[in-house]
Amino acid sequence: MFDKILIANRGEIALRVVRACREMGIASVAVHSTADSDAMHVRMADEAICIGPPSATQSYLSVPSIIAACEISGAQAIHPGYGFLSENAAFVQIVEDHEITFIGPSAEHIRLMGDKITAKDTMRKLGVPCVPGSDGGVPDVEAAKAIGTEFGYPVIVKATAGGGGRGMKLARSEAEMETAFRTARSEAKAAFGNDEVYIEKYLGNPRHIEIQVFGDGKGNAVHLGERDCSLQRRHQKVFEEAPGPAIDAETRARIGKVCADAVAEIGYSGAGTIEFLYEDGEFYFIEMNTRLQVEHPVTEAVFGVDLVREQIRIAAGHPLSFTQDDLQVNGHAIEVRINAEKLPNFAPSPGRITQYHAPGGLGVRMDSGLYDGYSIPPYYDSLIGKLIVHAQDRPAALARLHRALGELIVDGVDTTVPLFHALLEEPAVQKGDYSIHWLEKWLAENLG
Ligand code: ADP
Repeated sequence: MFDKILIANRGEIALRVVRACREMGIASVAVHSTADSDAMHVRMADEAICIGPPSATQSYLSVPSIIAACEISGAQAIHPGYGFLSENAAFVQIVEDHEITFIGPSAEHIRLMGDKITAKDTMRKLGVPCVPGSDGGVPDVEAAKAIGTEFGYPVIVKATAGGGGRGMKLARSEAEMETAFRTARSEAKAAFGNDEVYIEKYLGNPRHIEIQVFGDGKGNAVHLGERDCSLQRRHQKVFEEAPGPAIDAETRARIGKVCADAVAEIGYSGAGTIEFLYEDGEFYFIEMNTRLQVEHPVTEAVFGVDLVREQIRIAAGHPLSFTQDDLQVNGHAIEVRINAEKLPNFAPSPGRITQYHAPGGLGVRMDSGLYDGYSIPPYYDSLIGKLIVHAQDRPAALARLHRALGELIVDGVDTTVPLFHALLEEPAVQKGDYSIHWLEKWLAENLG
């Protein structure tokens, strides 16, 4: 096992990794920008190294600074968290070249899944159901129109290098195809430096269902069921739960096995998430994330496992600590993402926290780096905390969420807490009856 791990991230996820390290008897090294000198992850880690100015490109994304911090501290492994360098194959290659262990899959697997056309092609060959659409890249408008006619409108033009919803454009009819195609291409070029696009049938009413998988890198893999993340704003998840309200045990076992078998077949190592759209009882693969997800705690709650501990163990060469039969769903868990944002426009709301009180009690987990007097810097993501509740069933989890949100105090900045209070009053949310388009519509009608 490692003696010391460097965490190449900040905020709640850096803290999450520090906590796992401490329980495993591993020393942790925090890295931070000058804007984060007072951050909780810096205070809680065993060591901290300043790696640059506030701008993420010069600190959390600076590969030479992170490698140097590893060498100075003697850390044997790097945990990347999510975002930043977590899915950067070139970074992983450099880490490996320096004989440091990357806590995550190989550079090769990250590259494979980072290009969506290749990822889809690979998954299809492994027997994973995909959204119908073009066979690979679409070279020009004429070819795009031919695909539209073949599959029927509406269709969606997507960037192979896409992420964060960029380079994605809807074409409702042939008349809209030329603009959709050209806009998706130029957005993709600007955002990712790669203008290759592909086309998929647009699903009008799907849920977002993702399957958590874990591979040991030696051809063994398990799944840890699904998370339903259908409540999204601008393709960003805001409310996540496990198990999915629309998924029964038989469906979970079936799609879970397809996913576990697929990652076992490619010799995948570590945690991964296979994302699907789910409509009329059918799953359609959209992408695979080769890292820990923001919403991993709901899976931890219902399966009673520590996913970060498992990631570290696998990276150190240990076998999986559970078999598929060990993994049984217990109760229901919900996570809400608390952002420092001002409603109704979700404008970032950085600033000083004058008072903070975290909720507690049975089945309540608050993952956050907040404390009284902390100043949220304006340079990074607006996620300031995740509130996770776990109870015996979905109605009890909703009641617990309501209770816990009522106990939470975050004064000094605006947050998305009022959004969750309002959502909990909605019959659709109470029933778990919505598609990925529901929240946008609700926001337009209620906050617009
Ligand atoms: P990104 O990597 O940019 O997040 P994804 O492929 O994961 O892109 O898609 C993000 C979101 O866009 C999905 O969760 C869904 O809301 C929507 N989306 C993607 N593909 C389709 C599709 N074929 N039909 C309908 N909605 C889609």
